[in-house]
Amino acid sequence: MLLSIKGLAKSFGDLEVLKNIDVEIEKGKVLSIMGPSGSGKTTMLRCLNGLEQPDKGIFTFDDGLTLNFENKINKQEALKLRRKAGMVFQSYNLFPHKTALENVTEGPIIVQKRNKNEVNQMAEGLLEKVGLKDKMHLYPHQLSGGQQQRVGIARALAIEPDLMLFDEPTSALDPELIGEVLTVIRDLAKENWTMAIVTHEVQFASQVSDEVIFMDDGYIVEQGPPEEILKAPKEKRTQQFLDRIL
Ligand code: ADP
Repeated sequence: MLLSIKGLAKSFGDLEVLKNIDVEIEKGKVLSIMGPSGSGKTTMLRCLNGLEQPDKGIFTFDDGLTLNFENKINKQEALKLRRKAGMVFQSYNLFPHKTALENVTEGPIIVQKRNKNEVNQMAEGLLEKVGLKDKMHLYPHQLSGGQQQRVGIARALAIEPDLMLFDEPTSALDPELIGEVLTVIRDLAKENWTMAIVTHEVQFASQVSDEVIFMDDGYIVEQGPPEEILKAPKEKRTQQFLDRIL
């Protein structure tokens, strides 16, 4: 188990967005998170890498790092959490005035203060891995959406995280560009990266996932292997959701 989460809760004002969620993320496995818009999927991912501070919950990592959000966590703990997970955003979130290469090297050089030459070499390797070695000196506006998202993936990998988080990584893309991003994620799954992926791509989720969570209204309604949750769900809400999107 890479990460065990118990009793995760998060509200925005009066709105309870996550209600006592328990979830386990196994090392080397792919967890897909599905569910209707507004069910709390993005908020859960943001809690996982410290972009949102949970109100409650205990995170236990396999290396012994334990964070109990009932007590306010300190800066050092927050930073450790941030470094555990690389996040890939729906809208890429690249720095517009930096090249693809600079986008990938920014975190390791500026935040992690790693050696510039080493980081540059690593970043070139990562851009090659996502098929963009020949584009590394281009700026985001010179790249297609699919290419920008692949830079986003390389950037998340560059911090050498234990866990990769994807928040609807293909939902902003034109249909013909979705495949190239899904292929990169599939390749990462083959390399046994631990990943949590929010996605509406049912076919992709059923191919790539070891486990699927279906969320609704801040709860995990149902959880299990993809052949169960996506092909023969037990819960009516899951079935209704799948009927709507398929
Ligand atoms: P999903 O990813 O499943 O669409 P989200 O986690 O994005 O769901 O959102 C869940 C609910 O929380 C929504 O009602 C959304 O409007 C609300 N929400 C998310 N972030 C914030 C925020 N920063 N402030 C207030 N409400 C928020």
